[in-house]
Amino acid sequence: MQAYPLSEPISISQPQVLQNQVVVFSKNYLPLARINIKRAIALLVTGQAETLEFSSTRQWEVRSPSIVLLIPEHIRLVGGNPERHWKVPPVNRREIFRRDNHACQYCGSSKRLTLDHVIPRSKGGTHTWDNVVTACEKCNSSKSDSLLHEIGMVLRTKPKAPIHPAIAFAEQFWKEHQPLE
Ligand SMILES: [Zn+2]
Repeated sequence: MQAYPLSEPISISQPQVLQNQVVVFSKNYLPLARINIKRAIALLVTGQAETLEFSSTRQWEVRSPSIVLLIPEHIRLVGGNPERHWKVPPVNRREIFRRDNHACQYCGSSKRLTLDHVIPRSKGGTHTWDNVVTACEKCNSSKSDSLLHEIGMVLRTKPKAPIHPAIAFAEQFWKEHQPLE
């Protein structure tokens, strides 16, 4: 990637090119996120990222009145990882509801949601990501202080703590890019 005159506004003549997305990698070559091409252009022209070429990397041509940019499908940040300060979110209604997609983890309802301790606090259950789930009032009150196996209730998904968004993205990225056997 050469240097481009920063004073020149980039006006793009082919709007369909802007539909494309670019995968941004960390300095250590971990895929971090998919970003839109405008953001990628900004990172490239300000020197915060560089082209990363795999054998399969495509490039898109973006033209302004006087310059042509070749924007690759993959770029790599030159500086440190901007997500390094991420922490596991606190266990509260907002975060638990978000993880559970605002659905009761027993019946799937999205109405009258509450927090439920899978192992009740009265039986030593902890207020942690792996023991707190979203439950509707109805399921919560029929469960009461019982353990799931005592009353035959089943969780739709196993509760766990959110992982770093970049790690989640990396796992998904490599899953999609596994070589065919
Ligand atoms: Zn329910």
